[in-house]
Amino acid sequence: MRSPLFPKKINPWQLTASNGRLEGELALAALPRLGASNRADGRVSVSLEGGVDDRVRFLKGRLRADVELVCQRCLGPLLLPLELGVALGLVRSEAEAARLPAGYEPLLATDDGISVAELVEDELLLALPQIPRHQDLRECEANGYPAPREASSRAERRRPFAALASLLADSKRST
Ligand SMILES: [Zn+2]
Repeated sequence: MRSPLFPKKINPWQLTASNGRLEGELALAALPRLGASNRADGRVSVSLEGGVDDRVRFLKGRLRADVELVCQRCLGPLLLPLELGVALGLVRSEAEAARLPAGYEPLLATDDGISVAELVEDELLLALPQIPRHQDLRECEANGYPAPREASSRAERRRPFAALASLLADSKRST
């Protein structure tokens, strides 16, 4: 069964006031900032709940997605299962954001509403590693790491420096 897709925009103030829920899936392809390497059929499942807690209007819940990244060691595909908890406190200004209790991340929202896709994309981007790499080096090796061409060009690059070093040593000796 396919989960329902969301409205493009929601009004989080209404959602939290009515203890509403946001349940469903979004296509990763609809989140362009995550990068084009994602498979066309990738989806993120969203389960968020609105409410009021100690005068904070919040959206809490979980996001789950298998995000395909490029391993920065072997440049092969790296499938990263992401599951993250979200606790957003609604604010209308930076000053309000500064007053949020610990444990809440501010979500700046007006009555015009916010884009669900952008909210989800922001959260996933924060959770992505800055330099994604396969955890197991053998997976990189299976993708041909280290590439033989790269290894030899690195060796060539080293040679001029070695030559320079011996020149310097010679010049020191002659003075
Ligand atoms: Zn790798």
